[in-house]
Amino acid sequence: MRQVLTTGILYGMHWTGLMAVFRQLFSGQAVIVMFHEIQRDFRHELMTGTSVELFQQCLSSLRRQGWKIVTLDECLHALSLGDPKAPRYAVITFDDGYRDVLSVALPILEQDNAPFTVYVPTAAPTRALKSWWLGMREIFRRADHVTIDPMGVRFDCSDFLSKKKGLKAVVKWVHEDYRRAALLDRTFETHRISLSALNAAYFMDERELQALSRHPLASIGGHSTSHAALATLDPSSARAELEDNRMYLETLLGLPVRHLAFPYGTPGACGPREAHIAEQVGFSTAVTTRKGHLDGASVNRFWLPRIGLGCHPRISFEANLSGVHVAAQAVSNAVSVDLPLRSRAK
Ligand SMILES: [Zn+2]
Repeated sequence: MRQVLTTGILYGMHWTGLMAVFRQLFSGQAVIVMFHEIQRDFRHELMTGTSVELFQQCLSSLRRQGWKIVTLDECLHALSLGDPKAPRYAVITFDDGYRDVLSVALPILEQDNAPFTVYVPTAAPTRALKSWWLGMREIFRRADHVTIDPMGVRFDCSDFLSKKKGLKAVVKWVHEDYRRAALLDRTFETHRISLSALNAAYFMDERELQALSRHPLASIGGHSTSHAALATLDPSSARAELEDNRMYLETLLGLPVRHLAFPYGTPGACGPREAHIAEQVGFSTAVTTRKGHLDGASVNRFWLPRIGLGCHPRISFEANLSGVHVAAQAVSNAVSVDLPLRSRAK
């Protein structure tokens, strides 16, 4: 119900032109935009990433609204100067090191001369990644019946919408407790899914990463060794995840690796302890998936917010850029507290 209200408010603002007004009131000085896959066949991938068309629309929204696309270093330096007349800055980031960043997104970014950062976990190019989200997507794509024993659920999913819905439910279940990802191994065995083969199909290999790192628009950042939710690990394991990943990438690329994205980036996956470790092991910045804009010189470089695309991508991206999404969410929270149907709708 809350999601419906928020979406309704956002659509209303978009169509009445109020979004543009709110943009003047709420928008911060800079945004870091987060992408994962940029998919040529969005539907085949059960609409889990960003379509090419939507990616192009996001870049044109940024251009149309006067956001200047710069590197993260340039953005933070400009903010530190505190110039009230400075333009608004946008930083483009991609998590996980998908191959389509190289094959699909890069030619589009080149047309815009737009710099970007790709955050890479060691286990993606080495093919050891426990990419449970790719494994589950493959299962839902192939099978018409999916039983997830540890979840105690059987999904009947012979059509596109039920496949998409089933996958979303499993992803949500893992995000509620990241340790649950390890419980899916038996499901992968049952459906003869090789995560290593999926890694080879979807993620850049070492040679491709080396080539990308030499592109003038690209920067490569760290994303931990195994893509574990760091907050679930003991301190020395969490530290090793970041330290080893940085060393691996620096050795592979022959370049300093100074930027980090926390795996998952949610409050359940990282917090002040992880921000402290990131600084201790020598990173200069760390991004989360906490939604927000950057404002002024007081940003915490090891706890940077980002904006993504949300459930209704085009409207949602415009709303996230305007800063009004936070306001819409607050209004819907206040309204839904008093809704009589709320308890029945659960
Ligand atoms: Zn990731």
